[in-house]
Amino acid sequence: MKQPILSIGGLTPFTTLDFPGHLAAVIFCQGCPWHCGYCHNPHLLDFQAKSTLSWHKVERFLQSRQGLLDAVVFSGGEPILQKGLLDAVKRVRDLGFKVALHTAGINSNPIAKLLPYLDWIGFDIKAPFARYAMITGVPDSGKQPEKSAQLILESGIAYEFRTTVHPQLLNEKTLLELAMSLADLGVQRYVLQDCRPAHCLDASLQTFSRNQVLGNERLIQDILAIIPETIVRNR
Ligand code: SF4
Repeated sequence: MKQPILSIGGLTPFTTLDFPGHLAAVIFCQGCPWHCGYCHNPHLLDFQAKSTLSWHKVERFLQSRQGLLDAVVFSGGEPILQKGLLDAVKRVRDLGFKVALHTAGINSNPIAKLLPYLDWIGFDIKAPFARYAMITGVPDSGKQPEKSAQLILESGIAYEFRTTVHPQLLNEKTLLELAMSLADLGVQRYVLQDCRPAHCLDASLQTFSRNQVLGNERLIQDILAIIPETIVRNR
């Protein structure tokens, strides 16, 4: 059978964190066109980097975990830019696993095709859509994620929308604005994630010791009033 063409930058054989409530393996896809200063997977950004694993090896590993793992998570990098992702997702389903996707929704076309085959999406929201460039470094980069977000919400798939909060990149006012725009879209499950400064792509963002934005209880209460199912993670 023809192998899916997927550029793979790594594999985590077991996690309970990347698909809530599931024992999963994570496949890290290689390549992302954005340059978020807080990116903690900079080795996965280069599209030209050689795959560290063949799909054949991944599939053999998954066959050895049938009955032991519930699910496979495709993460990155930006997995939806991989031409072979849909084929890989179908193969994983055929092996009997649920499938989850971590994405920033960089292109809404593949999202639309993938949705019928997914069980859960962790969707990274960088900032208010009109201001994505301040995080990604790419002009107009919020347009496709906004369409992707609408598709995800309309599909009825289980999801988590999440925002990584670096105190030098997102302040209280911007987070409140973001929460209001997400509530308007219909987002009901939202996670604010603390940033891991030691691994930031941009060395100038590696210095803070306490995230005063996520430590602001008043802000968290205000966001909870907007999206009641909000969680603060890793604070
Ligand atoms: S979208 Fe994700 S993988 Fe791409 S640069 Fe931003 S944090 Fe890194």
